[in-house]
Formats: sequence, structure tokens, C-alpha cells
Amino acid sequence: MKVCLKCGAEPPLVSQLCHSCTRDSTKISEIPKILSMVCCKSCYSLKIPGTWLEFDDLDSSVSYFVEDSISWQNEAKKIKSELVLRQLDPQKYRVNVNCQGSYHGLDLTSDLETEIKLKFQVCQTCSRQAGGYYESILQVRTKRKEILDLAVDMVYSELDSSSSDFFTTEAGAVRGGYDFQLSSTEKARSVSRELMIKFGGHVNETNTLVGRKDGRDLLRHTFGVRLPNVKNGDYLFIENKVSKVIGVNRRRAKLIQISPPFRQQTVEVDGLRTLPILDDPLDVQIVSGRGSEFLLLDPFTLQTVEAISPKEWNGECVKALRYGNDTFFIWE
Ligand SMILES: [Zn+2]
Ligand SMILES: [Zn+2]
Repeated sequence: MKVCLKCGAEPPLVSQLCHSCTRDSTKISEIPKILSMVCCKSCYSLKIPGTWLEFDDLDSSVSYFVEDSISWQNEAKKIKSELVLRQLDPQKYRVNVNCQGSYHGLDLTSDLETEIKLKFQVCQTCSRQAGGYYESILQVRTKRKEILDLAVDMVYSELDSSSSDFFTTEAGAVRGGYDFQLSSTEKARSVSRELMIKFGGHVNETNTLVGRKDGRDLLRHTFGVRLPNVKNGDYLFIENKVSKVIGVNRRRAKLIQISPPFRQQTVEVDGLRTLPILDDPLDVQIVSGRGSEFLLLDPFTLQTVEAISPKEWNGECVKALRYGNDTFFIWE
């Protein structure tokens, strides 16, 4: 029978040692006693070879660095570490790490301690932001304020949800629209594309030579986004009838009449420029109804009116739009 090489104990053995001797001779993990890390003094990003990693706070940045610095026993499985951080002074942390892992089926633990020396620098994103850096300009243009507001909100929420290397150094209203100076050409291009997918219209991209760096031309890109003045869900008065916009693309809008025969048509967006856009519809109270004959309360005149629903209408809600002296009912 095989016995432990060290103490002669009987099995179970791990690589010819008993559990107790394995515990004594195997370290599941190790970490240097002193480590130094570089992090951004304004955003706590951690400098790693080639780039900076973003973190919400200094503790998170230090934790990541410590966990990344642990060397685990090669054959360790199901490894787990728990950290206790203590900041000794603005540039020093003491970190205790409890490590657990499985080594040939044997659960091993080790308690490590390390001291982290912090060096602060300014990351590329923060220094660019402070220096007013920008690569491109996004110009949003539309005649309709409501659409401009929606588009501007969309750009800001894109900025908010992106990583911090996508930022605006200057943004504001200009004649005919709104301009953004943006830190990334690639992101500016994708934002312009998203605006067009949502609102239709077109983008005009132009480049300006702003200098040379490392033997290459430095270009500044301008994305001129021209949005149409109608959007999905708008109601228009066209050919003496009310139509709803159900799609807008680059140059065309798709419309559907709100009353029989519910004709659909596709028209040039430019041709809609002078057409009246109606205010948002109001809810209509249905006073009574039998078959397709209804009594409705016109919310604009507060008069009861007789109306016929479309054939086979089985919706529950009627809305009304007003244009001139006429009320138009929408059977939804
Ligand atoms: Zn032994
Ligand atoms: Zn930073």
C-alpha cells in the first residue's frame, strides 16, 4: 500500500502526499508584498499595458488590480478570492485577500496581504477632455423644433450611455439646429446613422484638413444631419383628408388615411414641407353605439355628433383631431 512520502500516513493521498502534508506544502495562491499601480487622478481609471480601464471609484480600481496580481497555483480549480481594502493614506492601500481553491479535489485556502502604492497620472480621456479635444462635429438640422428636441435628447442619451472616451467638449443651439463637438469620429458617424434610422432624412459628411501628426493628415469630420419635418405618428392634412405618417426614410414618407378607404401612399418628404401638421389627437367619449352607428362627444366643440364607424370596427377607443372648423375622428 502506498503511504505519504513525507510522514508515512495512509491514503487518501494527493500526488503521493497525505492531505495534511499537501496543505503544508502547497500554496494555492501568492501575491507580492508590495505592488504599485498607476491610476488616473480624476476618473480613477487603471493604467494597464496599452490602455486604461474604467472604474467607478478608486476602491474598484484597486480591487481589480489586486485580483489581477494574484498568482494562482497552476492546478487550482474553482478559485475564489475575497478582498478587504484599507486605505492607509492617499497613496497607499493595505489589502488582505482570502483565497480559496480546489487542488486535486482538496479544498485549500490562503490568506495573503499586500501593500499597494498608488501613482497618479491623467488618463488620455481626461486630458483630452480638459484640452477641449474633438475629432468631429455633428450638426443636427431640422425646421421643426419638436423633432430637433427629440434628436438632441437622443444624442445626449447616447453620450451618457457610452464609455467615457466618447464625450462632447462643446454643444449648443445654433441657427437652424444644434451642434455637438464630439471626441470620436466613429461614434459621431454611428449616432448620425441612428438619427436617420429614427427620423429619416440624410447625412452629409465632409472632411477638413486641420494639420499633420506623425506624417499623417489630421482630418476633422463634419456630419451634417438634415432631418425631415415630419415624423412617425404625425397627422397631416393632405388632399382634404387626414393621413397618419407610418414611416419615414431618407426621402420618402409613408402615409395612411385615417378614414375609409384607408388609402396608403408614399410621398416625397420635401413635398410635405408646406402641409399642415395637426396637433395631437384628443380622446373622445363614446355616448352610445349600436352596430356601426355611434353618438360621440366632440372634444373640441363639446357637441354630440352622429358618426359611423368603419366596417367591422371592433376597437375600443376613438380619438379626434381638429383642422380648421372640422373635427376628424380616428377609430383605433
Ligand atoms: Zn503526510
Ligand atoms: Zn481619467
